[in-house]
Amino acid sequence: MFCYQCQETAGCSGCTKIGVCGKKAEVSNIQDLLRYVTIGLSEVTMALRQEGKVVDAAVNHVVSSNLFTTITNANFDDAVISACVKETMALNKNLAAQLSEIHNLSDAATWQSNSHEEMAEKAKTVGVLATTNEDIRSLRELIVYGLKGIAAYLKHANVLGFEKEEIDIFLQEALTKIHDDRLSVDELIALTMETGKFGVAGMAVLNEANTTTYGDPEITKVDIGVGDKPGILISGHDLKDLEMLLQQTENQGVDVYTHSEMLPAHYYPAFKKYKHFVGNYGNAWWKQKEEFESFNGPILMTTNCIVPPKDSYKDRIYTTGAAGFPGCTHIAGGIGEAKDFSAIIKQAKGCAAPKQIETGSIVGGFAYNQVIALADKVVAAVKSGAIKKFVVMAGCDGRMKSRDYYAEFAKALPQDTVILTAGCAKYRYNKLELGDIGGIPRVLDAGQCNDSYSLALIALKLKEVFGLDDINDLPIIYNIAWYEQKAVIVLLALLSLGVKNIHLGPTLPAFLSPTVVDVLVKNFGIAGIGTVEEDIKLFFAEQ
Ligand code: SF4
Repeated sequence: MFCYQCQETAGCSGCTKIGVCGKKAEVSNIQDLLRYVTIGLSEVTMALRQEGKVVDAAVNHVVSSNLFTTITNANFDDAVISACVKETMALNKNLAAQLSEIHNLSDAATWQSNSHEEMAEKAKTVGVLATTNEDIRSLRELIVYGLKGIAAYLKHANVLGFEKEEIDIFLQEALTKIHDDRLSVDELIALTMETGKFGVAGMAVLNEANTTTYGDPEITKVDIGVGDKPGILISGHDLKDLEMLLQQTENQGVDVYTHSEMLPAHYYPAFKKYKHFVGNYGNAWWKQKEEFESFNGPILMTTNCIVPPKDSYKDRIYTTGAAGFPGCTHIAGGIGEAKDFSAIIKQAKGCAAPKQIETGSIVGGFAYNQVIALADKVVAAVKSGAIKKFVVMAGCDGRMKSRDYYAEFAKALPQDTVILTAGCAKYRYNKLELGDIGGIPRVLDAGQCNDSYSLALIALKLKEVFGLDDINDLPIIYNIAWYEQKAVIVLLALLSLGVKNIHLGPTLPAFLSPTVVDVLVKNFGIAGIGTVEEDIKLFFAEQ
């Protein structure tokens, strides 16, 4: 195996024996094969389109779902991923048979096998290191990780009935291009930027899907304590799964709590009518070993991020959608299908209520429309000098000790700064008493990682309000924490919007070669982080 797609990769260079995330070598390899045959499927779909033939939305969904399945911490189940490989190979064969012309399809599109051994052997030859040129490899991986992020966002929009075929076509076109040895470094850099542009489009369609279906997020206080009824904890990002769970648990004598990236669901008006939707339990994903133990009830993982569970609570873990873990019950149901959560509800009824680990509340819901509703207040605070700077601290949290930096950084910020956040990075500082500025909280949480889109819209609105020509003239500092591939697409999306001088930590991605880092530094001013003291001085001097 060789995997370096996330921030926690071994030795900041690559996992080669087992993933720091817990991914076994066989799983990593079969994921590589899944990516390979999905590139093949994309070749076939692009060839069909060239011939003027229509590609079904269901085929587009296979491409995005396959990419999503290989995201960090989403699916650890060898058997499920092998089944995806077989399904994709079958599609490749059937769809290729519909082509009328000769298209020179590559091995990725034509390779077929039913043998587990052959698949395992093939998988070893199609991984990241199959690209020998370091810079080409770096750019290919940067693009693929961005595509994985887009695929995840697209899938969440698809389950709510929203489709954007041009994004699916881009995903498939980009996959064929990264497999084309004729593409130069410059062409791959251009494709990276285009990936960022489609990242914005992907987040926009998900934002449209979420807000059309569930309303605009509004300022909401979320309880972080517990009640006395048994609970079901729901984690991940899929709001449709949450909706189905809330409907099925009504009047059942169990409460529903959010975990980690599901917290922002509380901000949507549509979920407020459920009296048994009581609060948020715990923190960011990486603390789940302790927190799932003390939760006592069943836990539904709708997407990433799964930490391999301890035996003591493994029978309480359920997965659905792209998530999977061997030995945990998977709840079936594809796009447009109802899911049956009765097994979870039945188990919950026999469980003790969650053990209290915290008390109090957190406030969030500062997505675009809510902040714009406060625009006069915000603009007045900037004009009067009450707010001197905004600091975008979006992104992910992770288990590395070095991420204590983000809590310390938030504490060390001057009192006249406001943090704009989205994603699970916020758990490093959203329970600190950071106060407010004239009634505007100093931490404005827009929502999940995809709601970084809201932060970009807020920046664009401020640029308009202040009559600026360049988004970089705004008093905004970017100090983003990354962990997995959705943060990669958020970064590329910000670059495509022209944002410069983004600081990325706690370490720069291992998959960036020195040449690619150089390009990002020269063109976009991308930089890492230092100590809190150094960075506070540096970032404020940069503005
Ligand atoms: Fe390692 Fe991250 Fe890949 Fe897991 S996802 S194997 S931790 S690089």
